[in-house]
Amino acid sequence: MKQDEIAIVWFRNDLRIADNPALSAALHQYQKILPVYIQAPDEHAPWEPGAASNWWLHHSLDSLNQSLNSIGSYLLLQNGDSLATLQALINKTGAKAVFWNRMYEPALINRDRNIKKLLKVAGIDCRSFNGHLLSEPQGILNKAGSAFKVFSAYWKNTSREINPTEEIIPAPTAINSPRFADLSTSLKQLNLLPDKNWYQDFYDHWEPGEPAARKKIINLIEQTLSGYKINHDIPSTSGTSRLSPHLHFGEISAREVFSVCQQSAPILKFPIADMEKFISELGWREFGYYLMYHFPDSTTQSLNQRFDLYGWLDDSKQTELLEQWQQGKTGIPIVDAGMRELWQTGWMHNRVRMITASILTKNMGFHWIHGARWFWDTLVDADLAANTMGWQWTAGCGVDAAPYFRIFSPARQTERFDPDGNYIKRWLPELQHADKHVLTLGLPEATTKFDYPAPVIDLAVSRQAALLRWDSIKNSNHALTD
Ligand SMILES: Cc1cc2nc3c(=O)[nH]c(=O)nc-3n(C[C@H](O)[C@H](O)[C@H](O)COP(=O)(O)OP(=O)(O)OC[C@H]3O[C@@H](n4cnc5c(N)ncnc54)[C@H](O)[C@@H]3O)c2cc1C
Repeated sequence: MKQDEIAIVWFRNDLRIADNPALSAALHQYQKILPVYIQAPDEHAPWEPGAASNWWLHHSLDSLNQSLNSIGSYLLLQNGDSLATLQALINKTGAKAVFWNRMYEPALINRDRNIKKLLKVAGIDCRSFNGHLLSEPQGILNKAGSAFKVFSAYWKNTSREINPTEEIIPAPTAINSPRFADLSTSLKQLNLLPDKNWYQDFYDHWEPGEPAARKKIINLIEQTLSGYKINHDIPSTSGTSRLSPHLHFGEISAREVFSVCQQSAPILKFPIADMEKFISELGWREFGYYLMYHFPDSTTQSLNQRFDLYGWLDDSKQTELLEQWQQGKTGIPIVDAGMRELWQTGWMHNRVRMITASILTKNMGFHWIHGARWFWDTLVDADLAANTMGWQWTAGCGVDAAPYFRIFSPARQTERFDPDGNYIKRWLPELQHADKHVLTLGLPEATTKFDYPAPVIDLAVSRQAALLRWDSIKNSNHALTD
């Protein structure tokens, strides 16, 4: 233990005190800890955090500060360039160390590498840790020495390396922090809450912060896991954990979620298939980070470069169609229900994310980046790795083991996953009294019977057009990016 020396713990997307490797290592080696958060949205370019994310972040920082207060510490907030801010804090406080948990977004990997190099040169004990993933992406390669592009092969390789009995680091009970609270900017001055109060309903659906994430884990174990394999695909039920924003902001570690599930399965005796399915979803989260690490350009460019020639719609001429999709006014009930759920709650069920993304990219022909941008701004769980993978997968230009060009049929998806229309009716109250036919297929033509539009595109015709576009590129010479 270094007597009287100060270590800065730089919080980023690890807004928790339990199972936080950087915080724990600093506590073991330094007597005084200065927890710091730096708001620097420009450094995330071209993916500066969206409005819904900022709403979440505001409350999550507040919650972290309260947790730190309860153990004798506080969160020092700063606004501005990360390197300059850290250097200024080191000068003012005499801190000898900076510890953080790693981030994997391409722009942030470069930023952090540079900061580490410069601080080390200045004699600062600068260290980073894995606090975000079950398994970091760097070393995992196939037999040919290149990155996996198929989930099953990746996960088979990765999952056996994860130690389910690894000890979860308990939350510290006390932190000795030096008195520099007067250097902090106020939470309000970070200007995270969007100007337009469209997020008022979020409070009915979400409680950001580590204590709330922990409650969700209990709910997962006691309610959601049993039956997860079937229920996770039914959007009208509470069949999934809704942990995604908590995991994105690191209010709970993936390691803790994984380990709690593994340990409670034999005690609570829910079917092993339910647990395996849930764990494989955590695997998809890992895979998204893996792909983003190995293919950093994929956050803005199609992984399969053939899609550069795909003939995407000239979006500048189709702003009305894009707005109809964004506002949930396409006349396709399952799509509109999903887009309204997103707008009102900042979240959308995974099955419906796939359907809405397929309509935008396949039937409407918009480049996937338009959808990714809209989700980025409106999702409370907006996560560059998962969002990029989800959009590229659905658009057909990402990693997908299915050997055919998948186009979701909204009618078939509704029959399978919302057969009674409960999900649709919840988000489209104007269709409360519609029959099954209308809920599945939309209105046959414009009518005054419902305050709801007829479909804005012909699904059969647009499907054929998408298949023709696919035919025109599928044999082109552009290979899947290596
Ligand atoms: C077009 C599209 C965009 C998406 N954008 C995002 C995004 O920005 N942020 C995000 O977290 N997820 C995204 N997903 C993945 C998925 O929809 C959400 O993770 C899931 O709906 C979150 O709900 P949950 O926490 O209840 O999930 P659960 O079913 O309870 O799963 C547990 C956890 O596993 C992870 N997970 C589950 N499914 C996936 C998946 N398909 N890909 C990656 N991780 C997964 C999440 O961290 C989730 O919290 C996207 C999917 C699609 C098709």
